[in-house]
Amino acid sequence: MQPVVGIPQKLPAPPDGLYGKLMAHAAGLPGDELFAQMIAGQVAGLGALPPGLGLSNTEFSALLARHYPGIKLAVNFDESIADPRALERDDVLALLLESRAGKDTSEQWMAEIVTTACMDRNHLWQDLGLHSREYLSRLMTQNFPALAAKNMYDMKWKKFLYKQLCEREGINACRAPSCEYCADYLKCFGPED
Ligand code: SF4
Repeated sequence: MQPVVGIPQKLPAPPDGLYGKLMAHAAGLPGDELFAQMIAGQVAGLGALPPGLGLSNTEFSALLARHYPGIKLAVNFDESIADPRALERDDVLALLLESRAGKDTSEQWMAEIVTTACMDRNHLWQDLGLHSREYLSRLMTQNFPALAAKNMYDMKWKKFLYKQLCEREGINACRAPSCEYCADYLKCFGPED
């Protein structure tokens, strides 16, 4: 099977509003732009992340201090909500953490944020509030390189992560012997836009 090519990429949004403000204070770390997109997207009502991107108050404050020194944001955290999908969350989080690059403390926050977005139903880059799928591919490669490298045929990211979990458990939920002959091919590899 040939790698999927030609997936449409959207242009990044212009640096204005909160995104521009965050980037104006960016510390110069690899995750600055990605976190800024997600924070500004969440505040604008885009994506599926809760206030604070699903991090604790302490973690989110540390993220701001590390990536955008001098920026303060008022966030209404609600850390009392019971999570009926806690076991699933634990599995996704563990999968990501096992593959973190080991270069920056923000990989832990990124893993928690991606895990939270996996619990929703749209494409992962959309649930994260990123500007395009291209940024999600960058996020995965920067933070979880060993895992990202396994997605050599550019499978949709959320499908890819859950397929890793199924394979780990020895579960083959696929109806076809290989992707090449599968009627669900576009569900796994089609454009994510
Ligand atoms: S394309 Fe078909 S065989 Fe391949 S991962 Fe998706 S469901 Fe499974």
